[in-house]
Amino acid sequence: MTLDTPVSKLYMVGPTYARRLKKLGIETVGDLVTHFPFRYDDFSLISPISLIQAGEKVTIQGEVLLMKNEYTKYGKKIQKAKVADKTGEIEITWFNQPFLIKTISVGERYSFSGKVDWFGRKVVVVSPEYEKISNIEYRISKFIHTGRLVPVYPETRGVSSKWLRSRISPLLPQVKEELTEYIPLQILLREKLAPYKDSVLKIHFPENKAAAKKARERLAFDELFLIQLAGLHRQKQWQKNQVAHQFNIDQEKILAFLNQLPFELTNAQKRCTKEILKDLSSNKPMNRLLQGDVGSGKTVVAAIAAYTAFLNGYQTALMAPTEILAFQHYQTIKILLQPFDLKIALQTRSVKHLKSLELLKRPDIVIGTHALLSKKIAFDKLGLAIIDEQHRFGVEQRASLIKKGKAPHVLTMTATPIPRTIALTLYGDLDLSFIDEMPQGRLKVKTWVVPQEKRSAAYSWIKKEIISQKTQAFIICPLIEPSQIETMKDIKAATAEFEKLKKVFPKLKLDLLHGRTKSKEKEKILQELKEKKIQILVATPVVEVGIDIPNATIMMIEGAERFGLAQLHQLRGRVGRGIKQSYCFLFTQSQSQKVLKRLKAMETMNIGIELAELDLKLRGPGEIYGLKQHGFPDLRVASFTDFALIKKARSAAETVINDLENLPLLQEKLKKYTISLVEPN
Ligand code: ADP
Ligand code: MG
Repeated sequence: MTLDTPVSKLYMVGPTYARRLKKLGIETVGDLVTHFPFRYDDFSLISPISLIQAGEKVTIQGEVLLMKNEYTKYGKKIQKAKVADKTGEIEITWFNQPFLIKTISVGERYSFSGKVDWFGRKVVVVSPEYEKISNIEYRISKFIHTGRLVPVYPETRGVSSKWLRSRISPLLPQVKEELTEYIPLQILLREKLAPYKDSVLKIHFPENKAAAKKARERLAFDELFLIQLAGLHRQKQWQKNQVAHQFNIDQEKILAFLNQLPFELTNAQKRCTKEILKDLSSNKPMNRLLQGDVGSGKTVVAAIAAYTAFLNGYQTALMAPTEILAFQHYQTIKILLQPFDLKIALQTRSVKHLKSLELLKRPDIVIGTHALLSKKIAFDKLGLAIIDEQHRFGVEQRASLIKKGKAPHVLTMTATPIPRTIALTLYGDLDLSFIDEMPQGRLKVKTWVVPQEKRSAAYSWIKKEIISQKTQAFIICPLIEPSQIETMKDIKAATAEFEKLKKVFPKLKLDLLHGRTKSKEKEKILQELKEKKIQILVATPVVEVGIDIPNATIMMIEGAERFGLAQLHQLRGRVGRGIKQSYCFLFTQSQSQKVLKRLKAMETMNIGIELAELDLKLRGPGEIYGLKQHGFPDLRVASFTDFALIKKARSAAETVINDLENLPLLQEKLKKYTISLVEPN
């Protein structure tokens, strides 16, 4: 047996279990032994029976004197055991596990771990884990379910931690010699990391908490190190064999462009522009991500880059995920750059722009959707490719745009607020620029967290505002379960809310939009919204994209505590697009001070990335809704909040990236890792 052996070949793992394990991402023995626990039950205190006290978590070891089923008054089955050691006897109870009568044999010695509690007037051990005391030598440790730090694993239906412990413990001694060290010694020494084999063994069955911590540290480092290395490796591949178009930066012309703008760039825009211009003038092709909220002014920064390409005789392609976005970019960039004699073309599927391309002959900037990827579109000298909302495109689509030029500079843009630590980890191959400032004079969306008792007051206010200001409102229903996919349950809940709201606002016209609204119906609704025929749109959060109704000034979000701050911020971004003051109401039934404090951040903060970072700090990465949706891998041991470790892993990766040829084991590991990784960018 090797690490590559499929789990289905293992003793006691048939096709049924193999199928279940696949849900946990486990297909081989290697996957199984690297399925790490995320916590431990501390049952390391082994106590004589006579000394145990209610409230303790303990292990007792002794002979089973008696096993029986009993019925409670309410007809529930409970199982009772009597266990004795040299110091005394105690009763054990379980609830509704009648099979225990058959699995635990009277007269044999067992180890039990669980909580001690009062049951009536007796002290008993309640629903403990148990295992027979025998000399099982093939597995890694004498006890695996009791009497120690007991590992608790990510589980799935039909695969319990107990099952996993029973399978993993006998495997470890068999495969441990295959767990060869692959990180170079100098890194291990410098970062004071435990050896690989030891760490894998001990993360499952540590002798104490310190050993568990040491093992986790090592394996967390590995995880981040491999991500960083993969990122640097992609970056190297990207720069290899590529000769960039080293642009000359014409300061005077750029200043002239800036001076005729009706506004001054924000400091953040200036900083990002500088970073981009530096890349454009370097001898390596740029590969940079520009992150900034909707309305933070990414387009003008991109326009400066395109203008620079133009001044150097090169063309720019700008690809956006939807026709609406492409058209918006087209209009904005035309206003910005046409005065400087740039020829700008639009290419989408619905408009016959091949014609306009011909008319323009050799456009300086071509803006479009993935229609840009059509074979019919060829560039004479593509020097800059700009990709908006890059996560909406596949790796291949991005690559095929880039291939339309010879090593063009690439700028990707996104309004998805990803905390810097996460971006650094996941976008190892990209340089990052953040516009973390909004242009001055923009009206902030006034935001309030509304407790339950102020609900009807808020409804009356909304009613009055809609009528007196001739404005429109969105009411967002929560997802019932924090899932990316809208379920039938969600739609039912939204429909029920819609019916309720029709009674709350009898004089207004309401409509409902959710993920299963037919597209014809959806178009009709959006049209009626634009024509102000609908005053309140009730919607589920999944329909947030693509709604642009500048006349809407009220956003009301139900069950706000279920959303991440960054997501609330993006929902809020649906209003505040016109010149009128806009408002956002966050409704919550939560009484928790922690929740209220978190939501209150929305009242004062209005930069997406800052809210995302606060959320990361307050709730941890698991809670950052929507990360998965954007194709990011989960960290299993490490944490996105561990900035120090992320930095260490980054610098360690930098020390070996140019020496990979001499590190075959690491190279092998990286290869395997990269195959299993969905490229995030
Ligand atoms: P986004 O980052 O969402 O792409 P845009 O580039 O579309 O944002 O900018 C939104 C609006 O803000 C545009 O009308 C743009 O002209 C304007 N704008 C951009 N930068 C500034 C600034 N520094 N001051 C004032 N208005 C600005
Ligand atoms: Mg934009």
